[in-house]
Amino acid sequence: MKILGMTYSVKLMQARILESSKFGQHNGVELKITIARDMSVQQQVATMLHETLEAINYQLGLGLEEKAILGLERGLHGTLIDAGVNLNPLTKELRNGA
Ligand SMILES: [Zn+2]
Repeated sequence: MKILGMTYSVKLMQARILESSKFGQHNGVELKITIARDMSVQQQVATMLHETLEAINYQLGLGLEEKAILGLERGLHGTLIDAGVNLNPLTKELRNGA
């Protein structure tokens, strides 16, 4: 997927990671986003939104802390979902066997 014109590869993580309470990972150097596999699609979508915010934060050097990114994720996700916006395409690369 493209974020600020940069093409990120989006993949599912190899192993279960929920124990470590890390649902996703953003790597701004390698342009990679990885998402935990043992979650519902809804959780994966929310995590994808989170990692997208991490990528924007990184690429623009916004200096947002995790707390701010979590707040933006929850606020945006809730508002968009309540407004009937389908965010599932955010995770389509995860389901294309990529
Ligand atoms: Zn984060």
